[in-house]
Amino acid sequence: MAIKLKSEEELTIMREAGRIVGNTLAQLREMIRPGLNLMAIEQFVRDEYKRAGAKETFLNYAPGGKRPYPSNICVSVNEQLVHGIPTNRELQEGDIVTLDLGATYNGYVGDAAITVPVGKVNPIAEKLLEVTEAALWAGIGAARPGNHLNDVRGAIEDTIKVSGFSIVKGYGGHGVGREMHEEPHVENYRQRYRGPELVPGLVLALEPMVNAGGPDVYEEADGWTVSTKDGSLCCHFEHTIAIRAGGEAQVLTLP
Ligand code: MG
Repeated sequence: MAIKLKSEEELTIMREAGRIVGNTLAQLREMIRPGLNLMAIEQFVRDEYKRAGAKETFLNYAPGGKRPYPSNICVSVNEQLVHGIPTNRELQEGDIVTLDLGATYNGYVGDAAITVPVGKVNPIAEKLLEVTEAALWAGIGAARPGNHLNDVRGAIEDTIKVSGFSIVKGYGGHGVGREMHEEPHVENYRQRYRGPELVPGLVLALEPMVNAGGPDVYEEADGWTVSTKDGSLCCHFEHTIAIRAGGEAQVLTLP
């Protein structure tokens, strides 16, 4: 599969798809509090997408014969890293919750995630959120024309490594466009090869995933939820970005 570069027209649509995701996440960040039911988040996102004229990207997503994803959002609490399916669970003071959203607008996907503290959280959780978000922005900073994919992977890796936290392997970022997952795959650590050169029109979802404890994760019996093996806290931040001529990447999923 080849990388599909986007035209200016396509990037304009992708910015709209991204804005819908960014706006929805910004509102959710304000809503998150102890006692909030995860299904209320699911319903809020459904209503927002409807209002914005966007479709739910995640609902019924079924790569490689997996059980179709049964929900509109991924909401992962504490030791759950990614792909948590919303239930009637209520958030509690001290939890951290990852909200991962995908919206399809005029045929193009925006994909972003944030991890949010629920009330007051412990210092490890605070640092974990800080480091993971910093790793995302380090990756974005390295996403310039003339650099290669390994520069992005390395910037993410270096930011996490100095913290003493663990980088999750086996999951990572990806190209994004008409499909949620396009080439290339973006590991959150250096590879032996420098990878494709970053050229204008390349759109990537960068998404560092970091564990406070060991690096190992497993898929739960529901066939989707990915959790840390040692039960430690974990964190995930994601933006969809476009490589732009002459300088900094454009973050498509900002509000
Ligand atoms: Mg993604």
